[in-house]
Order: sequence, then structure tokens, then C-alpha cells
Amino acid sequence: MKHQTLIFVRQLVETAWLLMCATSALGCTPTLATQATPPPTATTVRIVQASPFPTGAAPTERLLQPVGSPIPMTAAPTPEVCAEAAIPLHTVSAEVDYAARRVEVEQHTRYVNRTGDSLSAIVFSVEPNRYPDLFSLISVTAKNAGIEVTASELTGRRLSVELSHPLASGCALELDLRFQLRITPVGQVLSANSGYLGYTARQLNLGLWLPALAPYRAGRWITHDSAPVGEQTIHELADWDVALRVVNAPDGLILAAPGIVAQIDAERWRIRHNAARDLALSLSPAYLVERVMTENGIAVEAYTFSDAQVNQDNATVNGGAHMLDAAAKAIAMYSDLFGAYPHDRFVIIQADFRDGMEFSGLAYVGGEWFRTFPGSPASYLTIITVHETAHQWWYGRVGSDQALTPWLDEALATYSEYIFYEEYHPALKDWWWSFRVDAFLNVETGFPPVDSPVFAFTSSRAYINAVYLRGARMFHQLRADLGTDAFFDWLRRYADAGDGQIASAETLWSLLSPLQLEATAATRSRYLFGE
Ligand SMILES: [Zn+2]
Repeated sequence: MKHQTLIFVRQLVETAWLLMCATSALGCTPTLATQATPPPTATTVRIVQASPFPTGAAPTERLLQPVGSPIPMTAAPTPEVCAEAAIPLHTVSAEVDYAARRVEVEQHTRYVNRTGDSLSAIVFSVEPNRYPDLFSLISVTAKNAGIEVTASELTGRRLSVELSHPLASGCALELDLRFQLRITPVGQVLSANSGYLGYTARQLNLGLWLPALAPYRAGRWITHDSAPVGEQTIHELADWDVALRVVNAPDGLILAAPGIVAQIDAERWRIRHNAARDLALSLSPAYLVERVMTENGIAVEAYTFSDAQVNQDNATVNGGAHMLDAAAKAIAMYSDLFGAYPHDRFVIIQADFRDGMEFSGLAYVGGEWFRTFPGSPASYLTIITVHETAHQWWYGRVGSDQALTPWLDEALATYSEYIFYEEYHPALKDWWWSFRVDAFLNVETGFPPVDSPVFAFTSSRAYINAVYLRGARMFHQLRADLGTDAFFDWLRRYADAGDGQIASAETLWSLLSPLQLEATAATRSRYLFGE
């Protein structure tokens, strides 16, 4: 991967700031000469706001400071809004030009500093900026009296918003972000399996399209570099309230979105999705929608295309109905085993991209699994549907660092597939091991440890083999070590301990007793680093 650093500084005259940005938004992101491949650039865009506060330093001097140098601070002149602890609230107004595949966004973020530290900067994770030319930041401004944004610097997915005065612990900050997205075709600028933020002729997907607060731990904001394999984001819970307007769209456009969705008129919706790690949505004029209620009262909705129904041996098999049934069964079963599903609805979508992808309250299942669906649960359509549904617990309910400890969600989601077959299709248990796992792990040595970070891998196949598939074997062996009842009791306690949190391997292992740690020592040492 070629990393190229370019410090791009734009100083704007205060009075012309908004006007200039509105008319030259494309100029806010520098264009690199080579942008044909998906790996992200490390280009830095630094916007220095015209200084509205008496720092005593001329703006030009500030521009010459190296990136990351400390900004002299004084206490805020008046105490800021100090508030009850709350998760961030993102109030978003977005206008999608469906034909042009452009999105104009105004995002108002209310952040309460619960870190215990006084913060001189707030850091967002801006996932769409990992792709070239997709994200253009227009402005970041603060709404608080007494705190201004002095500069905002965007490098890869990391947006650091520097403050004129520190935000005291327990106090709230209100920030307005304005930006533009130019959505790219699936499988072209984006790799084919990142199509959750991309479009095809019949589907426009907005996944990980909104900036979210980065987690703050031990005195630093955590964001990770992009990598060609796996996911690298870490999501805290937030409340999302999105006013969506879609213009230049075909008639009969259908929105697939989680949470509470209200359609206001033919082109406007409001989506409220609380205590969620992200807010993903998808639009298409061609969706067929089927709904079912699970035994435990969760509404499951499948959004598919007509080609989800395929002809096999002179009979029509309905992949959409199969996906819906498998997802509803999985939601009911995992609710029993691991604790409540975190939302009232679950939306599952036929994707015009490969494999699948999980979001809070929403998941995609790759279109290839419908086209190859044999009409039987012994199929990738079942496996991937169940896997993405399991992520509602191992990602949605229990968060984790997807870059450094991807096994925490992926190995558990994969092992949850096996549990599904055990419960609903016990005759296929051996088939699952042989088809899903053993076929790819036909040698026992040479695999990196299950708890390797995504950065250890250069191919998706090697990553899946080591983390997902060997991870499933490891959990199966841990179950043998502990006994089935104790094993599921342990996972249930992990789902409780990590509920709404970002869990770690320590969280998981700390829930085993000394005797259980001893009983699992050999398995842990066989599969994990440093165990
Ligand atoms: Zn997964």
C-alpha cells in the first residue's frame, strides 16, 4: 500500500468562510494522481478556522505549527453546558440526489465528555474518508458559547477537531459538521465487498457514511489505519436521528433502514435509531419486502430483488423467504441464549456486493448466495444470513475493537452459525464443519493465532481461515473443556458484561473461574498469542 502524506492547508477569511466552502466544496479535498485502487490515502486535510478568539497568535503562525503540536489553552471563560452522562446524539439532515449519487449532509453532534479528562480535541471516525474522492468535509463549527473550533484535521478516517478551550469533564459540546459524499459504483473504486457504501443500477447503499465519535481510552482517542482486509472501526453506542430527503429518484423508491422509520411524503423520511453503533440504510425502487414477527416479538424485514427467486430443477426456490425465515429463527434463538436483541426491528437486505455485512439493526447478505441457493439450508445463503444476524450480538450488543481483536466478533459469529445448525438442522452439523471449516483448514499448522489483528493479513481468505474458522474450532474446543452448560453460561455472561460496551479479550477471559481457566489453558495456548 502506498501512503502519501500531503499537508493541505486552507485558510479562510472569516466572513467568506461559508460562502467559499459552499462554492468550492470539491476543492476541500486534494486530488492525488493515482487513485485507482481501494487502499486509502493518508492525505491530511487541515482546515484552520479564522480565529474568533484572542489567542495572541496570528493565524499564519498557527499554520506553521507541525501537525499534532499542542495548542496553547486557557480555561473556558464561562462554564459550558454540563450535563447528565449521555451517549452521543447525532441529528442529521441529509439530501440524497439519487440520480447523481451525491449526498449533502448537515450533522449536528451533541457529545457529553464522560472521559474524566479535560479534552482539547474531539476525534471522529469518518469511515467514508478512507476511500479516495468520496468524502468532502466542508466545515466543522461549535455551537457552544465560549468554545470555538480552531482547526479540524482529517487524515484517513481520523477527524480531529481542535478546540479553543478545553471541554471539561461532564460537559457537553455541540458540533455542526457539513460534508458531501460522492457515492461510487460497487466493485469499482470501492472493492466489491465494501459495497455497503456504494451503488449499482438498482441499489444505493449508505453504510458507515456518517462520522461517529472515536472511542477515548487511557488518554487517547482510538482510530486505526485502514487495511485491505477486514474491518478497522470501533463503534460506541450513539443515538441517531436522521431527516432524509431523496431527490431525482425513480418512482416507488423504497427505504430499508433500522429503528423507527416514518415516511413523511414521497421523498422524505425520518429515521430514529437509538443506542446503535451506526445508522446504515439502503434505497431501491425494486425491493420486494417481506415481514415476519419472531417468537420474541422482534419484527424482521427482508428486502430482496426478484432474482432472489431462482429456478432449481424446474422448481422455484425463494431465497428471500428462506433468508427471512433463517434470520427470524436466529434472532429468537440468540435472544434466548445470549440475551435480548437490542432493537425492535431487524432489517436484512439482498446485497449487490459480495459476502455480507453487519450494522446495528440491519445486515446485508451477498447476492451471490441467492443466485447459488440450492433450496436447502445446506447453503451459504443460510450460513451468511445466520452469521450476519449473530453479529447483532457480537458487534451490535457487545462491541469490540474490530481491527485489533477481530476474533471477538468474527469467531463468535461463526461459531453461532454452528449453534444455529445444532438447534434447527441437527442433521447438518457435520456438514457445517466439513463445508464451512474443514475444507479450508486441511492442515493444522501454519495459521496465525486466532487473536491476530487484521493488519497481520494480506488476503481475506487467510484472514477468514485463521480468525473465523480456526476461531470456531477454538470455541468448540472451549465448549468441550468447560461443558456445554458452563460454556453457554459463560457466553451469556460475556454478552451481559459487554452489553452496550466495547469489550476486550480480558472481559471474556475474566468471566472464567480459576478452575475454568485451568481447564481451558491448553486450548488457549494452542490457538492464541501469549496464552
Ligand atoms: Zn462477520
